Amino acid sequence: MLVSHNADPILVVSPQGQVKYANFAAKDFFQFNQTSLEGLPFGYPLSTETPVEIEVYNKADKSICVAEMRVDEVEWQGEHCKLITLRDITVHKQLEQNYQQTITALQHANKALEKSNLELQQFAYLTSHNLQTPLRSISGFIQLLQSNYQDKLDDQANEWINRSVESTKKLQTLILDLLTYSRVDTRQMPFLEISFQTLVDEAFNVLEESITETGAEITCDKLPTVIGDHAQLVLLMQNLIGNAIKYRSKKPPKIHFFAEKQANEWCFCVSDNGIGINPQNTNKIFDVFYRLHTQQTYPGTGIGLALCRRIIERHGGRIWVKSQLGQGSQFYFTLPLKKESPRVWC
Ligand code: ADP
Repeated sequence: MLVSHNADPILVVSPQGQVKYANFAAKDFFQFNQTSLEGLPFGYPLSTETPVEIEVYNKADKSICVAEMRVDEVEWQGEHCKLITLRDITVHKQLEQNYQQTITALQHANKALEKSNLELQQFAYLTSHNLQTPLRSISGFIQLLQSNYQDKLDDQANEWINRSVESTKKLQTLILDLLTYSRVDTRQMPFLEISFQTLVDEAFNVLEESITETGAEITCDKLPTVIGDHAQLVLLMQNLIGNAIKYRSKKPPKIHFFAEKQANEWCFCVSDNGIGINPQNTNKIFDVFYRLHTQQTYPGTGIGLALCRRIIERHGGRIWVKSQLGQGSQFYFTLPLKKESPRVWC
């Protein structure tokens, strides 16, 4: 018979449910290699709604094989029989199962990571928020001590009080910066269409005093309209312009902005003529608390650029810097042209 050597198992079953014929592949599949299958009852219901999946227990290795079964009508030796065709899909099923297990494991890991991130964000926010009140009270009492007892204490005691006042001020700045940083995720506002020039103008207003004091010359090309979180983008510009002024060289600061339209995004650049950065450190400065100077030379908390990166990444963009020591810096960042849903932090 033509189907004897067919790779797929094929059987013919009588109206009484007995196997009338089985090809080699069928004998193999049902592990009847040595014995005849013919004459034995076919132990599976023969539904006309095919294909159905059937399972066969392998006694030898205790595994389970899975096959897709099709049932057709056939005339066989004068009887109205069923023609059964099987397709071994064991490997396919195992792969599918492994794939599903991997996906489920990944989904669980992702959920756990999201949960722990959310907890961390909340923790950072609540910690910095709750530290503010006792610190305010410490700072208030030390200042009272300073103003009321200055004349009654010796120089050493007064110096220690002055230092305590300075340290509490630094701690207050640090906690405020940390609060701002953790709010990038906890206080998200919807993305709206905003003229970038408006954002820059708002940042100028906040920095007006230092711009006037240092005689900074700021120029910009025509800036586009973008889609984003207004308050966060003002913070971004405030930090970048603020740094361009703070890390100025001996010359008065010259700052220039421009934006270039690329395939899917706007690429912005804030360029300054300041002290510049050693190229070895240009990636690290975007990490929280990473600073290149002492508090005496340039005071700061090392959170500003980390905040910028977090804001830009939430907007679906990238931020980087090109610089050389003594030759100014160019901070670049991108913002997508089309609206992107805000990122969930991980
Ligand atoms: P902070 O200014 O509080 O130290 P930032 O995160 O804003 O924190 O900056 C990190 C470091 O990157 C700074 O300590 C400084 O060394 C360097 N930096 C940032 N902006 C500039 C700039 N425009 N020119 C030179 N160095 C800069």
